[in-house]
Amino acid sequence: MTLRRLLAVAALVATQAPAARAASYETPNFVVDAPTAELARRFGEAAEAYRREKAEQWLGREMPPWPRRCPLRVEVTMGSAGGATHFTFGGDANNRPAVTSQRMEIRGDAQQLLNSVLPHEVTHTVLAHHFGRPVPRWADEGGSVLSENEAERFSHDVRCREILNAGKAFRLATLFRMVEYPRDMHVLYAQGYSVTDYLVRRGGDGRDGRGKLLQFLGAGMRGNTPESWDAAARTVYGFDSVDALEKGWLEALRTPPTRAVARDAAPARPAATTAAAAAARTELRSSAAPAVPVLEPPVRAARGTAPDAEPVGRPTTPRPAVAPDYPPPVLGPPEFPRR
Ligand SMILES: [Zn+2]
Repeated sequence: MTLRRLLAVAALVATQAPAARAASYETPNFVVDAPTAELARRFGEAAEAYRREKAEQWLGREMPPWPRRCPLRVEVTMGSAGGATHFTFGGDANNRPAVTSQRMEIRGDAQQLLNSVLPHEVTHTVLAHHFGRPVPRWADEGGSVLSENEAERFSHDVRCREILNAGKAFRLATLFRMVEYPRDMHVLYAQGYSVTDYLVRRGGDGRDGRGKLLQFLGAGMRGNTPESWDAAARTVYGFDSVDALEKGWLEALRTPPTRAVARDAAPARPAATTAAAAAARTELRSSAAPAVPVLEPPVRAARGTAPDAEPVGRPTTPRPAVAPDYPPPVLGPPEFPRR
């Protein structure tokens, strides 16, 4: 704790006096700004490793070197962790859609940043690179949450079920076409993750699932109309429509959430092998009842941080939010108080 406190203070001082920030570290694709030289190096190396790994998972190959290093600002603080990656889009030399600039900021507990927030943010860069333009929010966040650690994904899964049971989720026909963040960001993150995870699983093992999701997004984004998304659901996943896809997703949610998210857990990294991380996993598994009723959220594992505190510094939309319009009865009674 004392170390964290020291680092937090260092970060605070650095925030107040940018010229005095302690350390910078360059890798081929990132230039990291962090409270200490050691942290800058660790985050730089981890960012490069995630950059390789996430591109391999999604695209089957590494991304070409970025023409300019992506600034990565790391603030180590106590409390909840979060991050934001900002992009500008334009055209490349061949006038194809491309990212023209990007920068990344992450803030929070160092281990949480290394294990979960950083891979989440790096995944945004892979998706942005692939499409060269803004990715539909539900999939941009949902796909990035796939890169978070098991505990946080579990938490999103649970929250999604709670949102559904409370009648606060979006119809997928609405969610798919959203290009801005809604007022209630939690809904977008949790539901976006749940749908993304469902589609990735449905699409096949390994990279097939992610590759199909990219196809689906590409087809739906062409026009971004109800028709384009229906056509995408048909051609990529064999559903008659987005409504039919929605039905399939809800049906899949009738499987309790216990270990479903464990399959794809991020590979162990030095930072992920700490006793604390191991303890968190153990706690999570042991607290999740294996045979809960269909949509009852399992016992919530005690987690100190908000998993979706990501929007730190991310521009929240000034536009009016799309009202959640999920009809409450969709998933039956709102709660299963007791078995
Ligand atoms: Zn994100």
